[in-house]
Amino acid sequence: MPEGIEVEYYRQGAEASISRVIESLVVDDLYYLKGETTPNKLRKALIGNKVLQARRIGKLLLLDIDGEDTVGLRFGMTGRIIVDNKAAIEYLEFSSDRNDPKWDRFIVNFDDGGSMRIRDPRRLGGVELNPDVSQLGHDLFSITIEELSQVLSGSSRPIKARLMDQSMVAGLGNLLTDEILWRASIDPRRPADSLDEKTTRSLYKHFKKTIEELATLGGSHMGTLQDHRISGGFCPKHGIPLERYKIGGRTTYSCPEHQKR
Ligand SMILES: [Zn+2]
Repeated sequence: MPEGIEVEYYRQGAEASISRVIESLVVDDLYYLKGETTPNKLRKALIGNKVLQARRIGKLLLLDIDGEDTVGLRFGMTGRIIVDNKAAIEYLEFSSDRNDPKWDRFIVNFDDGGSMRIRDPRRLGGVELNPDVSQLGHDLFSITIEELSQVLSGSSRPIKARLMDQSMVAGLGNLLTDEILWRASIDPRRPADSLDEKTTRSLYKHFKKTIEELATLGGSHMGTLQDHRISGGFCPKHGIPLERYKIGGRTTYSCPEHQKR
């Protein structure tokens, strides 16, 4: 599914829409409109106006429109952004290989003949006008060590659940979180507030490095642990079987040898 890294690629792709005049919208899928959003409100906010800026907080893409409105785009499990028929990412873990226009849930047509569309087979994403962003935590690209430390010390829940809580850290999903904890040698079930200062520093270092590295390599699925996230998978460091269990409903893999509880 798209995690913060993928949505950052989408944001970069959406920059191609900046300063172009919006001529029309296709918003036939009412289920895809979230909150108070209606086709009429969207048309009023967008048509005849331009996208000024493409921002991102965690997994939420925000398009600021001249006229003071903001369009929020969420991508769920399988959503992608396609600008002028070019996808910001061709490959998406867990999404369909097929590329069917009938999965277009929201289309913005520009007056120059181009378009920006959200293609989402499973339809778990959404479009929301002026979404409330006050509940989102620190963005995964910009979080500081002080902020991470505060997030961890505030709860004795399993550290993985705490890191994936979007109101604490915005943008981490299942793959990134398992990869970071595996690299930092921390058991995902360990209470968040049990880390000492040294371990927190080490976690922060691995956190930043993982995001930076996977963003360069091409996405959340490019981690070292990824190919071993299968039943019977082995720790790439130790060659011993990984443990597999659920935290907060999400399938989790960790190494019983080097990830400390
Ligand atoms: Zn190991």
